[in-house]
Amino acid sequence: MSDPLPDITPAPEPFVTEYPFTKAPGADAILRSADGADFYVHRVILSLVSPVFETMFQLPQPDAAPAVPVIDVQETSAVLDRALRFFYPGAYPRAATLEEVQEIIKVLVSKYDVQSVVPVAKQHLEKFCSARPLAVYAIAFQHRWQDVATLAAKESLKLSLRTLNTPAPPELNGMTAIAYHDLLHYHYLCGTAAQRTAYSLLWLDPPRAMVTSPNCVCHSRNHAYTFLNNARYTVPEWFNTYLTSMAGVLTITPGAILRENYNFYVALGQAKCVHCTIYPEFITFVSNEWPAKLAEEMDKIELKF
Ligand SMILES: [Zn+2]
Repeated sequence: MSDPLPDITPAPEPFVTEYPFTKAPGADAILRSADGADFYVHRVILSLVSPVFETMFQLPQPDAAPAVPVIDVQETSAVLDRALRFFYPGAYPRAATLEEVQEIIKVLVSKYDVQSVVPVAKQHLEKFCSARPLAVYAIAFQHRWQDVATLAAKESLKLSLRTLNTPAPPELNGMTAIAYHDLLHYHYLCGTAAQRTAYSLLWLDPPRAMVTSPNCVCHSRNHAYTFLNNARYTVPEWFNTYLTSMAGVLTITPGAILRENYNFYVALGQAKCVHCTIYPEFITFVSNEWPAKLAEEMDKIELKF
């Protein structure tokens, strides 16, 4: 047997505490991280934001205790540094990833009961809503933060949550069954409402192309829709096909971006009638009128909380 290869992994650089946690006059406690880094802090600041620290500092000290007491904490230096920076004067929050934000919330809110950081923590969570809606929803649900949960749930409407042949998203590991059930319920109601806006155009002012050229050659006698004020007009075959396909898309992904959907480009290719104004009006419909109606309908649906 040959000799094992020597371990050439460099030892991690020791953590160096930076301002405002360096040794300074006035600092009257040391938080020592799990990996041995010393954070000089002011008891009055920690007591002000955290009832847990407040109680800890009120405990009587033994006579032999050093003037600046050392408190061993379970957090590593990196975690402790990020957590303290979330509220400490002279520091500003540093959190690059959602996992870091989640850890900060766990340490500050769940462990040390620092409720004053909740608004800042929510702002940081919201930044990840668009990229990681399920993960943000799970965290918000756990803390009962309805505002952030609602934003994340709304972002989740761009995802299909009903596809059975894809692996479960890893975010589900951090979500209770109840949380996921409530999200699915919201998603389903939004899908149904979105689908309705495709099947019935009673909410839409009839396009000018319908009013000025009600029997244009591009229309199909087989397909008529009732518009706002019960105005009934025939529509082109491709328009009917477009609405029907989109009803299916929106049922599954109610937050789909209409202008980015494949069906839009298919319809565009067929919308160029030289006899009426249907082409520009179709683009306005997909870009403005329909998205506005969908947003209005989604806003009516409340996330159960
Ligand atoms: Zn036409």
